[in-house]
Amino acid sequence: MKTSGPPATGTYPIYYSGSGWNAMLPARQPRTVLPRDTAFGTIVVGAGYTGLAAARRIAELEPDKSVLVIDAAPVAESSAGRNSGFLINLPHNTNMGGHASPLEVAHKQIRLYDAGLEWLKQLVDSNDIDCGWNPQGKYHAAATSDGVKNLKAALEQYREWGIPYTEIDPDALAAKFGTRYYRYGYHSPHNVFVQPAALIRGLADSLPANVYLLENEPVVALDGSGLFRVQTVRGTFQAERVILANNAFAKALGILRDRIIAIYTYAGMTPQLPEEELQKLGQNEEWGLIPANRLGTTLRRTQDGRFMVRSAYSYEREQALEQTKALLTDCYKRRYPNMASHGFEYLWGGTTALTRNGATFFGLVRPGLYASLGCNGAGVLKGSVYGKLLGEMAVGSQSPLLSDVLSLERPTWLPPEPFRRIGVVSTIRYQAKKAGLER
Ligand SMILES: Cc1cc2nc3c(=O)[nH]c(=O)nc-3n(C[C@H](O)[C@H](O)[C@H](O)COP(=O)(O)OP(=O)(O)OC[C@H]3O[C@@H](n4cnc5c(N)ncnc54)[C@H](O)[C@@H]3O)c2cc1C
Repeated sequence: MKTSGPPATGTYPIYYSGSGWNAMLPARQPRTVLPRDTAFGTIVVGAGYTGLAAARRIAELEPDKSVLVIDAAPVAESSAGRNSGFLINLPHNTNMGGHASPLEVAHKQIRLYDAGLEWLKQLVDSNDIDCGWNPQGKYHAAATSDGVKNLKAALEQYREWGIPYTEIDPDALAAKFGTRYYRYGYHSPHNVFVQPAALIRGLADSLPANVYLLENEPVVALDGSGLFRVQTVRGTFQAERVILANNAFAKALGILRDRIIAIYTYAGMTPQLPEEELQKLGQNEEWGLIPANRLGTTLRRTQDGRFMVRSAYSYEREQALEQTKALLTDCYKRRYPNMASHGFEYLWGGTTALTRNGATFFGLVRPGLYASLGCNGAGVLKGSVYGKLLGEMAVGSQSPLLSDVLSLERPTWLPPEPFRRIGVVSTIRYQAKKAGLER
């Protein structure tokens, strides 16, 4: 893990600092021993939620064949262990930037996410994965009149979809969260909280016996067809089938260069807070709050008495840690001016893969090569269910859920550089300004 110097762009993600969620867990030894075999039935690039789900499913459906999963990072040091741990089983961020979901599409997505959540829960239970699974739903709250409009528009969609919710007035918000920062909010039961690093570790460490996991081993090239050659820093492996689950970094292997971008976002985690400080964070023991603007700030009070703040975006590069610290401290202070300290024990950045129209690429790239890429910032649950279905598709299975996912919109074209950078960076700046106090 790199800790200083410029953040990486290119073949795989390298960060200034490790994941706070992962650092809070007991040490785990990454699996870095090269396999003796170089030929596998399937090679999966990426050991996030998508890659592990695909590998697990293929290994279950083809018990006589072997699967190699390769990741550039130790498990839980990638975005899979850097995210905020919301498992949201609804279309996310609708009406906050043109991502409206027509009824039929929304119903398909909800079916997919519900199936994914049920599957993940089975895996968590059957493998005793201690990841703080808490199905207590999530809050959305607005600090501005534009934010209120966004939330009301989202609730209009909930009504159309037949989804329950509870509206919350400013006094109740203040009691729940210990701040008068927000003027309107609602609770939606469609969310489970997890400790994301614990979940991804548990999934990686419970893979079927015919899966070989290789961590800390970047894939640097992919070529061939019929028989693919996957080249890593230390070796070359072959397989008739390759699954790409490395999100925006698939671009570096020549895939979907004109469809996907990497956007970094940032989080800070406090130390465990003393009881009198925790009381300032409201009456609920564990809660999570999603902002009313895409460029807003997510908050989480964790089961073990810490506070997490996630905010800010940057294009294709990680911003400096000092900048991250200043931004997140400001977000924290504005909401909770009375805390004794606004210090973070951990600060980190992570990547998400975004597409122009919010659609994920799912399916066949060319014969033998499959991909699920572009989770658009909400990929813990989506990645899990899409990865599972991609594994099923790759072995030739069919199901109504697979038909659903194949019927969804595909990512639209993005202009080449430098127009892409100019467009994205100015959109981030404009939206951040517009977000105002939601930031
Ligand atoms: C700060 C933050 C907060 C977030 N909060 C949430 C949230 O609360 N809920 C939610 O659903 N989503 C959230 N997300 C997004 C979520 O983390 C992603 O959507 C999710 O991790 C996507 O899973 P994935 O398996 O598709 O991709 P990833 O998790 O990105 O996995 C891709 C893997 O590919 C590996 N890789 C890349 N290039 C190479 C290469 N060349 N060779 C080998 N391996 C490679 C990476 O190391 C990585 O492990 C958040 C993201 C961040 C950064």
